[in-house]
Amino acid sequence: MLICANGRKHMPKPIVPMTVEAATMELPDTKTLRLKWPDGYAVEFKTGQFITVHFPDAPAYKRAYSLSSCALDRGFYEITIKREGKMGTRLVDWTQPGDQLMVIPPAGRFLPVFEPNKHLICIAGGSGVTPFRGFVREATRRRLKTRITVLYSVRTTNDIIFNAEFRALAQENRNFSFYVTCTRLSAQDPWSGRRGRIDGAWVREQIQDLPNTVFYACGPNPLVEAAEHLVWQDLAVPREQMKTEKWG
Ligand SMILES: Cc1cc2nc3c(=O)[nH]c(=O)nc-3n(C[C@H](O)[C@H](O)[C@H](O)COP(=O)(O)OP(=O)(O)OC[C@H]3O[C@@H](n4cnc5c(N)ncnc54)[C@H](O)[C@@H]3O)c2cc1C
Repeated sequence: MLICANGRKHMPKPIVPMTVEAATMELPDTKTLRLKWPDGYAVEFKTGQFITVHFPDAPAYKRAYSLSSCALDRGFYEITIKREGKMGTRLVDWTQPGDQLMVIPPAGRFLPVFEPNKHLICIAGGSGVTPFRGFVREATRRRLKTRITVLYSVRTTNDIIFNAEFRALAQENRNFSFYVTCTRLSAQDPWSGRRGRIDGAWVREQIQDLPNTVFYACGPNPLVEAAEHLVWQDLAVPREQMKTEKWG
């Protein structure tokens, strides 16, 4: 037990060993791991939170991963990792079903506002799309009226994580829209969709009722900071209408 500066007792969160139940390559550099909860594990958590993991042989090297599954999924967590840095490479290239990871329970405040009149505009770049899979999965399963629009920036059409899944969810859930923009396609590429970075004009096109719109941005810091600038400065949206998750 820790005693905090304010004198309150604080129980550290338990670290629980979990077995990798499945490993799915989403793209050549991106993998989803399904971590099976041990018997008797019954944690309350929310869609959009992250878990923190370490390998059993390296307890000091911990990294956070957003849940790409949702709070309705019980019995396992899913995280989706890009091969990036030491931990990212070990998880993507070396971690297989049957391996163990140590897991600190979900935390974080990057939570979807699932109110019927709200519109969530979710700005993602590259692997930053992971928590939005959880948002859309929960809203679709619960048949919520909340509108969700994902604006997703990728380099090329080969870099769209969960492409088929998001498109299937958009078919099933008429309150969900999935739009992709490609930033580095060659001029000859047959892609007929949008090209170039996410900009103020594109975001503005999505807005119908600004006071009831909540903006989200998730991923590496430069992407999230660019999204903050766009929403707060270019669109003059009040700060409290935007939630961000910065990965560092
Ligand atoms: C709350 C939270 C949620 C996160 N969720 C995810 C997730 O769902 N999927 C995921 O792949 N990563 C996620 N990350 C990033 C993850 O924690 C690690 O930073 C990442 O796996 C690299 O760790 P590393 O130890 O291998 O490299 P490090 O040595 O820690 O960092 C390597 C460099 O890569 C940059 N970087 C980290 N992640 C990315 C990325 N995905 N794309 C581009 N640059 C990156 C860092 O800024 C750093 O400069 C999350 C981070 C936080 C704080």
